[in-house]
Amino acid sequence: MSAATVTVARVTDTSLSDLAPGALVRPGDEGWDAARAFHSGIGEPTVIVRAATVDDVRAALRYAASERLDVMVRGGGHSAWGAIPGGLTLDLAALDGVRIDGDVVHVGGGATWGAVARTLSAHGLGISSGDTASVGVGGLTLGGGIGWMVRAWGLAADQLVGAQLVTARGEVLEANEQSHADLLWALRGGGGNFGVVTRFDFRAHPLTAVVFATLGVEGDARPVLQTLRDTMADAPRDLTVTYMDIPAMDPNAPAGATITAAWIGDDEDAARAALAPLLALEGITETELGVRAYPDILMDMPAADPDQPMPGFLGGNTLLRELGDDAIDRLVAFREANAASVLFLRSLGGAYGDVPQEATAFPGRSATWFAMAGAFDVPGLVHDGNRPLIQAEWDAIEALGEGLYGNFTPSTDPGLVSRMYSADTMARLAQIKRQYDPLNLFCRNHNVVPA
Ligand SMILES: Cc1cc2nc3c(=O)[nH]c(=O)nc-3n(C[C@H](O)[C@H](O)[C@H](O)COP(=O)(O)OP(=O)(O)OC[C@H]3O[C@@H](n4cnc5c(N)ncnc54)[C@H](O)[C@@H]3O)c2cc1C
Repeated sequence: MSAATVTVARVTDTSLSDLAPGALVRPGDEGWDAARAFHSGIGEPTVIVRAATVDDVRAALRYAASERLDVMVRGGGHSAWGAIPGGLTLDLAALDGVRIDGDVVHVGGGATWGAVARTLSAHGLGISSGDTASVGVGGLTLGGGIGWMVRAWGLAADQLVGAQLVTARGEVLEANEQSHADLLWALRGGGGNFGVVTRFDFRAHPLTAVVFATLGVEGDARPVLQTLRDTMADAPRDLTVTYMDIPAMDPNAPAGATITAAWIGDDEDAARAALAPLLALEGITETELGVRAYPDILMDMPAADPDQPMPGFLGGNTLLRELGDDAIDRLVAFREANAASVLFLRSLGGAYGDVPQEATAFPGRSATWFAMAGAFDVPGLVHDGNRPLIQAEWDAIEALGEGLYGNFTPSTDPGLVSRMYSADTMARLAQIKRQYDPLNLFCRNHNVVPA
């Protein structure tokens, strides 16, 4: 946020005195280090406000504007860009309520998916969210949200039917199809650009159980991925699969490739039938196939050790219209060429593709696969001269796709943002940004600059 643009937002009430004790945390305060930690590192904000109410959020925004501090909104704290120094971190973790009203679930802006899944499950309901319990509803939904049920129910953002949002000016708005529909459109994939969402409203789906399968993969990945692709082309949308090939992370997490599959309901035979072409392949082993409660398929992923920062990542992600043989060859070759690298694929299509491109801000609705690959940039493993080559290999893969998924990017670099959205979507987002955040108070994200 430039100093020149801030002045319009200056307000006289800069008091944070109404906040609960401990809600305001500054460097040197007790608990500072814990308060500034996020999933993959340690932030260096100027000040942290832990908001527990909508009024706390408003007070924090007034304060940020008066002190000319950029605002970093923290939902579940899993994004990779929590370490940008300076500014006011607005921590929403205390806004974690989950309340069910028929088939609509109202979720606080700082809730995590594990809590949502547990509450929904007790009512025989589910939402397609993410794969990990501690990931925030906020960041995942606003960026899109590709989860275990994406082929059955679409993105997390597709299930968003309304939101309560505090704007940069401190107004509290309700966005839904009847009111501020433009804002609802932007919140479905446009990121945290438009204000602080204090409540998300999702349409939930009946869900009693999930058949969850893990298949071990050995040998050449190419024929396996071809069969996986062909299987998913005709598979019922109840089935969503992930392919993941990882290096050894530590002695308890050995290297290896797996296919995981989630099937809506408790019909093991139907799930096994849908996976039959894969199970018939040499090199595939059925490690697990059984019925689980939805909350139990969400993974626990411990936060990074602040003393051992995550290495850099050479690679990226892309939404692929087709997983052609060429894409498979390039992805597998990338993984094979880089010992410390990951390859991740998630099937799309189904309900994800039913949503017209222009109906939400999310890119790549024609995609049938999401792909991500990256080499960990560990000194000694990656030599300086190889970095451009590795990145060039990835760039050639990304060129096969039709958009970048912002939630899996390592930074908020403007170069990434311009690859996330089409020119039309970017222009529409910029118009909406101008309406709701003309001074770009919310710029610590994949930033849409106001038109
Ligand atoms: C272990 C792990 C597993 C993951 N699994 C998946 C997955 O299965 N599917 C998937 O699609 N993605 C997944 N992701 C990516 C994830 O969607 C992003 O990291 C996302 O940004 C996390 O949201 P958060 O609220 O936890 O993060 P935060 O860092 O808190 O928020 C990210 C950004 O979202 C905005 N924001 C958050 N909450 C609000 C709010 N209430 N109001 C306004 N703005 C807000 C802010 O701009 C903030 O910078 C995963 C990430 C990790 C680390």
